[in-house]
Amino acid sequence: MSSIENLSHLFMKFPGIGTRQAKRFVYFLLAQDPYFVDSLAREISALKKDIAQCAGCFRFYQKRISSNSSTLCDICVDDADSSTLMVVEKDTDLESVRRSGGYAGRYFILGGTIPVLERDPASKIRIRELLERIEGSATDGLTEIILALSVNPEGDFTHDYILKVITPLAEQLGITITTLGRGLSTGTELEYSDSDTLRHALKNRG
Ligand SMILES: [Zn+2]
Repeated sequence: MSSIENLSHLFMKFPGIGTRQAKRFVYFLLAQDPYFVDSLAREISALKKDIAQCAGCFRFYQKRISSNSSTLCDICVDDADSSTLMVVEKDTDLESVRRSGGYAGRYFILGGTIPVLERDPASKIRIRELLERIEGSATDGLTEIILALSVNPEGDFTHDYILKVITPLAEQLGITITTLGRGLSTGTELEYSDSDTLRHALKNRG
């Protein structure tokens, strides 16, 4: 196989990328100057070395040079409000909420959603880790868990499953569970919501 084909096959592993788009990426790269292609290659190799996954919220974060031993990201160690924990599907959702400036608490990333009718829901998201996080956060003053899933069938299904699983523990610890969703219209994916919409949805959570 030629380099064109090899690289196309790699691009086809990206989410949502088919044969045609993969080829377009390759020809795009061929048309760029060597500097661009070199820096792209360099950034890709640096990614796994410089970025770590947080042991608290599971987001990917830039490792700090000063504290190589820390396994927690800046949001989990800094003075973010530890009384609220927002549960989101993925890193890009967390970034949208952060950008909106309407939320100052902590986060937990599920790592996916559960397909409707999935027989083994627990295998699709970090539900066990979420339960552990809730238990561990209770002594940290956690009083509210905000479920912030996308407003679509899969998001709803995931929301209901999490609610069912965490409610007994939350009740036992006196933690309220709220839902971000009012104010977001049906079909809304968190990552594409603008800051005004997100701030509104946060204010009107219930
Ligand atoms: Zn974290």
